Amino acid sequence: MTDIAIRTQDILDRLGAGNPFVADGDLVCRSPIDGSEIGRLRSHTADEAADVIGRAQAAFEQWRSVPAPVRGQFVRELGELLREHKDDLGALVSIEAGKIVSEGLGEVQEMIDICDLAVGLSRQLHGLTIATERPGHRMMEQWHPLGVVGVISAFNFPVAVWSWNAALAFVCGDAVVWKPSEKTLLTALGCQALAAEAGRRAGVPEGLSAVLLGDYRIGEVLVDDPRVPLVSATGSTRMGKQVAPRVAARLGRTLLELGGNNAAIVAPSADLDLAVRGIVFSAVGTAGQRCTSLRRIIVHESIKDDLVTRLKAAYETLPIGSPLEASTLVGPLVDQPAFDAFGAAVEQATADGGDLVTGGTAADVEGDGFYVHPAIIDMPKQTEIVKAETFAPLLYVLTYSDLDEAFALHNEVAQGLSSSIFTLNVREAEQFMSVVGSDCGIANVNIGPSGAEIGGAFGGEKETGGGRESGSDAWRAYMRRSTNTVNYSTELPLAQGVEFV
Ligand code: NAD
Repeated sequence: MTDIAIRTQDILDRLGAGNPFVADGDLVCRSPIDGSEIGRLRSHTADEAADVIGRAQAAFEQWRSVPAPVRGQFVRELGELLREHKDDLGALVSIEAGKIVSEGLGEVQEMIDICDLAVGLSRQLHGLTIATERPGHRMMEQWHPLGVVGVISAFNFPVAVWSWNAALAFVCGDAVVWKPSEKTLLTALGCQALAAEAGRRAGVPEGLSAVLLGDYRIGEVLVDDPRVPLVSATGSTRMGKQVAPRVAARLGRTLLELGGNNAAIVAPSADLDLAVRGIVFSAVGTAGQRCTSLRRIIVHESIKDDLVTRLKAAYETLPIGSPLEASTLVGPLVDQPAFDAFGAAVEQATADGGDLVTGGTAADVEGDGFYVHPAIIDMPKQTEIVKAETFAPLLYVLTYSDLDEAFALHNEVAQGLSSSIFTLNVREAEQFMSVVGSDCGIANVNIGPSGAEIGGAFGGEKETGGGRESGSDAWRAYMRRSTNTVNYSTELPLAQGVEFV
């Protein structure tokens, strides 16, 4: 057993997940830190997955009648357990997804934050009372629990995405069946162990929270099962284009959180010190493997040379290495295909006439992990490779001369997740956030596009899928709306003045 495998087992024991490994399992758990095998797990079969969904449905039928503030107590217990186990779960995120220590802990903090939000929300699931045209009548909306929510998640936020969905779904009165990424199964088992313990403490029905292990084929069981009214799927646009029509074919609902190709406009008035810090964090944080990672800079021609010189200097001092080392800022890519995609994109961009300013090569780190020097490529124009999402630390530089041109370049891509502008000019900032500016779900001023807080609705437009999770009124996606009209008069007036006697 490697040191990482031993450490992982210790963490799983402390989280209450025990030893889940089977020697001849078909699912190989690896750490991107050194490429080593941690252990093997067995996939659920389609029949087993259907049974899990059946148990979740039965649990839902009890849970939906529990008052929402009482449901909130389950999520409060989960939040307490996450606080208690933050270091362990954060370390497991680092081991399995390759995030640096601070980002692994940050991801667990995000889970705690959404639990806090959901507990408060459990006393605020409100509908409207609406004026009616009929005398002696009252019209109102009620929000009811929806059913079993299927959650399909990506490797790069292995625990936070589940919690964004699950914390809201549980207080909304739903059951949750989770199909995590096949690359990050152990963090899912760790979360499930904590959810099971929270469930025991709060006395929730068996099967209310469940995990399905397997690849996309197990995801398809959730996608196709009519007992799952909502499939919340986070991952690539390719996956979303497969999942959405299948769920729609049975008239189910989807909540899609798909790929991004996020940009920052850097205007002549920008505070460049601040912009450089914001750009570097957004572009190389999580080794460029965030859906909100910054992939394109659109910089005014008058400050381009200065900005690129400063970015190059910052990039060339970035500590690259094991994410478990406190000093590391750039950890590994998740696997060989991610490494190959990075290399291929650098090659294509330079073939398109791009000038490789820095990076773009493999970094020498002990073990069999896939580490790279983050790349900056100065592009003569926005070619197809720039418009594609390459899930790696690759930053393209584009140049503009007037703001309309910057907005046009910004919105020219198919994705619409997150965006930002660095400017001290209030007109530019307001235009960027207005209808003629960014077409994304998130538009920031003087911060990069990544690092959202849970209080706001999170998600994006166009090929990002249109879903919204987390804060604001995102909870409504996990409930069904019932419009009720009550006649407390002795007459029976009909709407629209219709007479029927
Ligand atoms: P991926 O699409 O390869 O896999 C995501 C999940 O979908 C996995 O659990 C996978 O097993 C499942 N899956 C794939 N095909 C499926 C199918 N046909 N039916 C059912 N399930 C299927 O994505 P990934 O490589 O794990 O993650 C990276 C991608 O996720 C990037 O594109 C990134 O932008 C995106 N992402 C988006 C958000 C967001 O909030 N918008 C957040 C995180 C990641």
